[in-house]
Amino acid sequence: MIPVNEPLLGENTLKYVTDCVESGWISSAGAYIRKFEEAFAEYLGVRHAVTVTSGTTALHLALAALDIGPDDEVLIPALTMIAVPYAVLYTGATPIPLDVDSEIYNLDPEQVRAFMDGRCRYDKSRKRWIDRATGKAVRAVIPVHLYGHPCPMEALMDLARSYGLAVVEDAAEAHGALYRFSGDPPLTRAAGAIGDIGCFSFYANKIITTGEGGMVVTGDDGLAEKARRLKDLAHAPGARFLHTDLAFNYRMTNLQAAVGLAQLERIEANIAVKRDMAAAYEKLLSGIQGLTLPLEKEWARNVYWMYAVCVEESFGLSRDALMRRLRDKGVDTRSFFVPVNRQPALERIAAGGVFPESPVADDLAARGFYLPSGLAITRDQIETVCRALGEIQAESG
Ligand SMILES: *Cc1c(COP(=O)(O)O)cnc(C)c1O
Repeated sequence: MIPVNEPLLGENTLKYVTDCVESGWISSAGAYIRKFEEAFAEYLGVRHAVTVTSGTTALHLALAALDIGPDDEVLIPALTMIAVPYAVLYTGATPIPLDVDSEIYNLDPEQVRAFMDGRCRYDKSRKRWIDRATGKAVRAVIPVHLYGHPCPMEALMDLARSYGLAVVEDAAEAHGALYRFSGDPPLTRAAGAIGDIGCFSFYANKIITTGEGGMVVTGDDGLAEKARRLKDLAHAPGARFLHTDLAFNYRMTNLQAAVGLAQLERIEANIAVKRDMAAAYEKLLSGIQGLTLPLEKEWARNVYWMYAVCVEESFGLSRDALMRRLRDKGVDTRSFFVPVNRQPALERIAAGGVFPESPVADDLAARGFYLPSGLAITRDQIETVCRALGEIQAESG
């Protein structure tokens, strides 16, 4: 079976981890934490990077640092990983899933504008935009750079400014993805380093990994300080066993940071693997009817975390049937995420009727899947996958 994903650990991992073990520094107090944070911040071109235990806790910490709470709402894309609405729910706030665009599958700025103009009003005394349907204040938006392609950040940042929304980027699938603002030199802004706070995951299948782990990045000194305090039990300065806020233990271990530092040394090599994989798929699949391939906008560097394709009617088979046939031929694939408004875990909120419809996300979720995209993928495996797709189409066409 050609696996859908496989991590690649590489050169210095064992050396750095051995250093942790030999020195006895295995908790979050070791030197690799600071080294990994500094190197990651420098790589992205952002002032602060704060290690945490996962991408999920990174999102929660980011929202907590922004003081998002039960009276608030947070706008998220309808097509995303479940950690995004979960993180909003942990704060007591309500996630509002908005539809995505049909080309890059990311949060559609027009949906944000339509929601704010159509459903919200500005409350002068609270100085916030209020959702008329719930009475809650819309406080933040979470653009998710899905499958490695950056969101249209310029339009989203402009909207966020005009409606007073904080921007929390979810870059869990987009380490090293780049974005260009109009008027900027080409591709200078890193996904995750554009909004108020960016969140990363280092789960085993991401662009770089620490096994489990995550990072919160920000250019704001106050937010960074608050994130550092809240991720470590909010110790009162200078006073033992006094704590200033309700806080968490989201501390990464030195062992994980050692792996992360070694991984970061090869991040551009990993991205090159993903981009070469995408180029090979694109070339080999161009002759096959009825598959929509991922694209790269001229203002973006796509890091192709996953090679995500959509099945059109003209292919002659449904997505699910195609995935089964590929499996029979030894090719493992995954379907797209199930939209947030279809999740059983959010059924109660959905039943309240406050989630807008998201026809594009529904359609993509029914037709989308991703091909084997691991960092260990070989040219032979890519050719096998594409040959299998061609054979299946010939058999069913
Ligand atoms: C993987 C992922 C997360 C969660 O990261 P974990 O480290 O698994 O908690 C969040 N958002 C997106 C878009 C992801 O792909």
